[in-house]
Amino acid sequence: MSSPLFQSRPLLLLKPTRKIFSLSHPQNNSLNRSPSTHSRNGLTFLRHKKLLTDLSTWGIGGPCNHFVQVFEQTQLVSAIRYCKENSLRFMIIGKGSNCLFDDLGYDGCVILNRIEFLEKIEHGVYRVGSGYPFNRLGVQSATEGLSGLEFAAGIPGTVGGAAFMNAGANGQETGDAIDTMEIITCEGEFQMLNRGDLRFGYRSSVCQDMKNLAAITAVTFRLNNLESARDRQLEYLERRKQSQPLRERSAGSVFRNPSDLGVSAAELIERSGLKGFKIGGAMVSNKHANFFINCGGASSQDMLELIGLVKKTVYQKFGVKLKEEVLYVHPYIEDTNL
Ligand SMILES: Cc1cc2nc3c(=O)[nH]c(=O)nc-3n(C[C@H](O)[C@H](O)[C@H](O)COP(=O)(O)OP(=O)(O)OC[C@H]3O[C@@H](n4cnc5c(N)ncnc54)[C@H](O)[C@@H]3O)c2cc1C
Repeated sequence: MSSPLFQSRPLLLLKPTRKIFSLSHPQNNSLNRSPSTHSRNGLTFLRHKKLLTDLSTWGIGGPCNHFVQVFEQTQLVSAIRYCKENSLRFMIIGKGSNCLFDDLGYDGCVILNRIEFLEKIEHGVYRVGSGYPFNRLGVQSATEGLSGLEFAAGIPGTVGGAAFMNAGANGQETGDAIDTMEIITCEGEFQMLNRGDLRFGYRSSVCQDMKNLAAITAVTFRLNNLESARDRQLEYLERRKQSQPLRERSAGSVFRNPSDLGVSAAELIERSGLKGFKIGGAMVSNKHANFFINCGGASSQDMLELIGLVKKTVYQKFGVKLKEEVLYVHPYIEDTNL
């Protein structure tokens, strides 16, 4: 298994009410058992204790069946092997800043990546643990007069999440700065992917298509000298502050920008009159129409309904089918279509 991606199925299927699950879902009980803790190979697994709401910038999500934090690559391999041996579905997460978790939780094991080392291989070449904060890396490199990751300041994810999503802004993308990527396969083997093996597109990476990818463990970046890198970064940050609701709980842009239309998703949503539109605790931001915020107690259902409604309205008004950038993590079903 790798990471579950957003489901483009009809919203009806995305609406597992508690009643339906409590009556008919075979695995229903697995998300409702009493909390416990157990250790294995130095790792502590929490069962039915950890809430996904604490693991996502949106602050939405129910309990995970199993939860474990990993601080080293060897621990990550152990966690993956444990999941395999116990036939547990699993997903690795960084800061949960691009994920919409469900109120019903996650029937499997959530592995929180805290592999945070940074090695300077040579001037401009950094090998970085995949759990390293991406914004910190952006600030450090720009402050050293290196260009390529100026845009990363202000992106609240990890290096692994940024590489997986090919995060980008201001005309820069993560993939452009990546030299090599180290991964673990579902069989628990380490592999090195070289620049030639890596394909990146708009918010997409080869990792999203790799059936046997368990996790990215480290990324090596190659950056160029640019004295003004930090100044450029400060400009980007100022622009972000002016245009994005950074004090609110969001997951960044909900939709990708449509290709070749010369108009952004935010503009289409704004021109549909949806700024400030609210369903339950989920609201289209008044500051940036492609940011949906949890303005207090939003459920996953509120957010899914808002996403569905915005998509439908934009399609009716402009004939444009918006595609989600955020990833919906289904409590029970594995999916790999973005
Ligand atoms: C305020 C705000 C601003 C944002 N601005 C931007 C922006 O300018 N540009 C942009 O592109 N995004 C932006 N985002 C979205 C988000 O921060 C990025 O997509 C980020 O790269 C996600 O990283 P993460 O560690 O939080 O990933 P998560 O949300 O934890 O995970 C996202 C996906 O990546 C997978 N994944 C995570 N780590 C690994 C790993 N080590 N190995 C394999 N798979 C992994 C997960 O399984 C999941 O499928 C913003 C979000 C917020 C809240």
